[in-house]
Amino acid sequence: MSMRTLIMLIVAVPALIVGGAMAFGVAIPVPEWGRDYVLRFLLAPDAEPLNLPVIEGPDDPDRPLIVIDAGHGGRDPGSIGGGDGSNRVLEKDIVLALSLALRDELLEGGGIRVALTRDDDTIVTLAQRPEIARQLEADLFLSIHADSAGGNSAVAGASIYTLSTEASSEAAARFAERENAADALNGITIEGQSAEVSAILVELSQQRTQDDATEFASLLEREGQGAIRFHPQTRRSAELAVLRAPDVPGVLFESGFVTNQGDRSRLTTEEGRAEYASVLARAIRVYFARRADQ
Ligand code: ZN
Repeated sequence: MSMRTLIMLIVAVPALIVGGAMAFGVAIPVPEWGRDYVLRFLLAPDAEPLNLPVIEGPDDPDRPLIVIDAGHGGRDPGSIGGGDGSNRVLEKDIVLALSLALRDELLEGGGIRVALTRDDDTIVTLAQRPEIARQLEADLFLSIHADSAGGNSAVAGASIYTLSTEASSEAAARFAERENAADALNGITIEGQSAEVSAILVELSQQRTQDDATEFASLLEREGQGAIRFHPQTRRSAELAVLRAPDVPGVLFESGFVTNQGDRSRLTTEEGRAEYASVLARAIRVYFARRADQ
């Protein structure tokens, strides 16, 4: 399919849906291009209750909000590196320290609101992590991890993951189903005929969310060039449960390998962490600045 046809389709499909919906007598607000295009979904009433974290930074809901997600925690240590001796490091500790350093860096720079899915050594389930971002109506979700290469201590460098396209549209379908059951989509009650309509709206919204996530991933890569070591295969996509929110762009950052000595020392020293934090913070600022201009 040519780019032109693709663009035509992307522009024409929402118009057709809205037109079709009108024909069925259902009023659906026309989403505008730009940041507002992503629909906000109401939660199903039976969604599990969450302890929402505190939002730090400016007390202004118009300021962009990032949710930083330190992977693992509590009884889940994540990857383990450095052997059994005093060099032993746990992913859950590394990524918490890195998340806290990033939070501090962002708060110091001002203008951005920050929340953490965990700020201590507790466990948060995989499903709860993106759900926290959704309930806080976050603009961006960044999950931070550190990798393990088992016995291959030579493997090193950071990678940036986004949700794979197949997983993305599958998640959209499942989400639409769940939300349809709750009869509420974007604050509008939709019944009967419009199940397909709402499913397509969710799909479109998820596409937009994935485009934003991809853009943020590119910015991370760009800002990190020359500052942090990347794995030769820097950009990857996978079926990651933690990135499945249909309305909050999310990226998973594998900061490095706990099984590699160089990565491990960068990830466990304050100077090393500061470097990571400044790269991540720059990418986040550029991402939000672009959206503010739209
Ligand atoms: Zn991990």
